[in-house]
Amino acid sequence: MSSNSPDQPDRATLERWDADHLWHPFSSPTVHPTDPPLIIDRAEGCWLIDLDGNRYLDGTSSLWCNIHGHRVPELDLAIRNQLSRVAHSTLLGASHAPAIVLARRLAELAPAGLSRVFFSDDGATAVEAALKMSFQYQLQRDDPKPGKSLFLSLRGAYHGDTLGAVGVGDLGLFHDRFGPLRVAALHACQPACYRCPLNLKRPTCGIACAAEAAQLIRKHADQLSAVIIEPGIQGAAGMIPLPDGYLTQIREVTRHCDVHLIADEVATGFYRTGTMFACEGEKVIPDFLCLAKGLTGGYLPLAATLTSSEIHSAFAGRPEAGRGFYHGHTYTGNPLGAAVALANLELMARPGFAAHVAELISTLEQELCGFQRFSTVGDIRQRGLMAGVEIMKDRGSGESFPSSACVGKIICGWMRQKGVLLRPLGDTIVIMPPLASSSDDIRHICQTLMQAILAFEDGGQLGKV
Ligand SMILES: *Cc1c(COP(=O)(O)O)cnc(C)c1O
Repeated sequence: MSSNSPDQPDRATLERWDADHLWHPFSSPTVHPTDPPLIIDRAEGCWLIDLDGNRYLDGTSSLWCNIHGHRVPELDLAIRNQLSRVAHSTLLGASHAPAIVLARRLAELAPAGLSRVFFSDDGATAVEAALKMSFQYQLQRDDPKPGKSLFLSLRGAYHGDTLGAVGVGDLGLFHDRFGPLRVAALHACQPACYRCPLNLKRPTCGIACAAEAAQLIRKHADQLSAVIIEPGIQGAAGMIPLPDGYLTQIREVTRHCDVHLIADEVATGFYRTGTMFACEGEKVIPDFLCLAKGLTGGYLPLAATLTSSEIHSAFAGRPEAGRGFYHGHTYTGNPLGAAVALANLELMARPGFAAHVAELISTLEQELCGFQRFSTVGDIRQRGLMAGVEIMKDRGSGESFPSSACVGKIICGWMRQKGVLLRPLGDTIVIMPPLASSSDDIRHICQTLMQAILAFEDGGQLGKV
């Protein structure tokens, strides 16, 4: 293939330099033998193309953020147009049209009352801002509550990798070792129906996990600043859908107990679960809404933390009072990111977009039914266009494979050779394609995964295919 740009090193050189210099996220230097680096060169629609011209369906939306596919003419143009004006200027003491218009647009789209928009760069930074705003609000409200310095999240939660976000996280390898550095957080039991921590069954359980969380919140109301939750579905925890009604109950108890609710919609926002935001599913209005991944359609890093004018007004005061929010990032509200985010939202507002997503969701639901026949598929979980197929040694006994077997990685390695890119969470295979996929793309992903599981059940030789 000679489509590489002329000044780009050849593939062997790139692979060597990658091994010598790149420190990849969430990785150790020992690369799994079935997992040599795939070097992506370009893309067309929902397909990524490597240096050799091999095509791969982007089954995890380039890490949960792509919406309309790649190289979307309208999005490319939005960036080009903005480039011809200015690539970056600061929001510190100045402003620019793309950030202003985007803030207004997000306030229009968000649940009622979330009219203030604070920009940052990533999901973790959106969460970080919400945690700090919530805490500072407690100090500066008309009836200050300095004792409210604790957060509560769910077991298994993932809210990003900066220290504040790590503090409210609860995901083994990602969080445990940083114990001494973490901010104080309580964890409510995980509303995971497949492995119910309360040993109950739906629907007779009456969502007892919500009642248990509510009790914990009431007990610590005086110390709690905020509860942070991923509405609709816990993503990185392994695609764990929250039971319907769970979020509503948490909203009621937090309101009653004078505790903020932070909705981390970094993964679920922007139609991922079928509505613009997952909180809409239960008509819940949080005090803070954290957005990132899909905000720019998967083009550029940009994040937003939305809150109410009531919370915002607690930060008002003369400069010498020092009541402002002393927090921000150099590239906050970057004009290129804001411009492409606006174009992304415009595409979402087009007639037919929501209906297309609804159709994909039902196609995925139908296809997922087909996995029930496998003895090595323990659980199948879905919320909108986020799904997880959990591979197990034996569904009957609920026994998992040892983590050293790297089952998820092996299956995804095989899928990659068949031209479908997926990334597992442990032994849970994640299916999270771009919202612009076709129903055929969804079927293709699911059917390829079925072949992979069949081949795996036939002798576990996938790594050698
Ligand atoms: C990905 C994710 C984050 C972190 O976002 P980054 O952009 O990777 O920092 C936070 N919360 C949730 C729910 C996520 O899925």
